Amino acid sequence: MKVRFVDKTDVTARLIIEGVDVPFMNALRRIILTEVPSMAIDEIVVLENSSILNDEILAHRLGFVPLKTDLDTYNLPKECPCKSEFGCNLCRATLTIDVEATDSVKTVYSSDLVPNNPDIAPVSNKIPITKLAPDQRIRLEAYARLGKGKEHVKWQPVSVCAYKYFPKVKINEKLCDACGKCVDVCPKRILTNVEKNIGIRNITECTLCQDCEDACPKDPTAIEVTWDKNAFILGIESNGGLSVDRLLFESLKILDGKAENFLNLLTEKK
Ligand SMILES: [Zn+2]
Repeated sequence: MKVRFVDKTDVTARLIIEGVDVPFMNALRRIILTEVPSMAIDEIVVLENSSILNDEILAHRLGFVPLKTDLDTYNLPKECPCKSEFGCNLCRATLTIDVEATDSVKTVYSSDLVPNNPDIAPVSNKIPITKLAPDQRIRLEAYARLGKGKEHVKWQPVSVCAYKYFPKVKINEKLCDACGKCVDVCPKRILTNVEKNIGIRNITECTLCQDCEDACPKDPTAIEVTWDKNAFILGIESNGGLSVDRLLFESLKILDGKAENFLNLLTEKK
């Protein structure tokens, strides 16, 4: 297996993975979406809410505020030694809001969520939660915990995790007269026509739409789009709670654990 990053920031990445197959890529994708734990607000205690939003809608909106996740300190509630339904410092983080509009309309932002532990703070300070008219107030305590995307989508640590086959575009130079029709039709602009020569750039952008093949007036076509069955381009966008590196590392750890469990079951059966 060969892995190479095409581009990467702390929260987004595109990587080429070679020497694997669809079941492996799909397992990786599904584990990232549904099994890598992340932090989200799960319960709130409303002390005062005179805003236009009722408590349930407020709780729902707060649940979807992405929080920084600390997987080294916090436990999943099910795996926490406290075994308490109320949680402890190792499986629950508290955030509070106390905002009042005085003489003008005030927007409550995610920055108004004040964390007890600064490591579990909103990823962005600019997420609007609600608006308060003069004299309206929100005062509440919110409890965040680790959870998995398969329980509720608010615990999904990524906004995007998708893969596609690595594209292969072949131009038959004997047949091609560089009419340029394929260059004009390509929606991703990956083809070039320089001095009557069709060239390819940014091959990773190709979506395998095969419009270029359809546009080619030659029969058989002078351009052919296929894909490598054992190479994939994986795109990941973290919601900011975990870095892309950590997401990949955790997903592989989970996949490894699943394979080991499966092997153990097989040997037990024997
Ligand atoms: Zn606990």
